[in-house]
Amino acid sequence: MLLEAKNVSRQFGAFFAVRDASLSIAQGEIVGLIGPNGAGKSTFFNCLAGDMPPSAGQVIFDGQDVTFAPPETHALAGIGRTFQLPATFEDMTVLENVMVGAYLRHPHRNAARDRAMEVLEITELKDLAMQRARTLGTPGRKRLEIARVLATSPRLMFLDEALAGLTPSEVQRAIGLVRRIHGMGITLVIVEHIMEVIMALTERVIVFNQGRVIAQGKPADVVKDTQVIEAYLGSGRRKRRA
Ligand code: ADP
Ligand code: MG
Repeated sequence: MLLEAKNVSRQFGAFFAVRDASLSIAQGEIVGLIGPNGAGKSTFFNCLAGDMPPSAGQVIFDGQDVTFAPPETHALAGIGRTFQLPATFEDMTVLENVMVGAYLRHPHRNAARDRAMEVLEITELKDLAMQRARTLGTPGRKRLEIARVLATSPRLMFLDEALAGLTPSEVQRAIGLVRRIHGMGITLVIVEHIMEVIMALTERVIVFNQGRVIAQGKPADVVKDTQVIEAYLGSGRRKRRA
């Protein structure tokens, strides 16, 4: 297994945002992680990518225990993640933002610039390279967030709602980008609310609810699962009736 999370929990005070969640990701997979808002998906990503230590459990990446390692260790080992709220340097150019990621493995400026230019090509951001990040619209920002991570040359990428807020045609373009990234041999775990995206991209889906894994399987099977329907629609239905 490329990544193994064993019984990961994360508490905020007495509240469990993630409770006893286990996950195995094989090299080359594209896995979807779905669940309602507040289910704990981003917190789980934080624990897996080293942005937040779990309260309990273990995270093993490529045989290395990274549970309590700092984010730099995760990045160097080959774990990359996008943030649901993009962590862009607003006053820097698109190129400079991507170079920040590229410096991880290319300490010399020219090499980092070359790597960043490659990534801008892949992410179709080349024409925007010299623009300040703050001038970008939503689609550009979403691609920049992916580009910044891609520049670190990850083996495993977590995408946290990287396609949220896009129009249907932009979503199609982003699906193409995700496929290209997967085609480069990068393993992907994708949090996404749009079921069409999950169906189009993933081979396996894990369903999160109230901090727990409540179901997993092939996307087509998971959408039929009653617990999943309950998690997504149950409370909404009750609210509508009330
Ligand atoms: P999701 O990404 O599935 O929408 P989150 O992981 O963002 O869910 O949040 C799960 C739960 O944990 C929510 O109830 C949220 O309010 C809570 N939570 C997340 N981060 C923190 C934090 N830093 N401090 C306290 N509570 C948090
Ligand atoms: Mg989230």
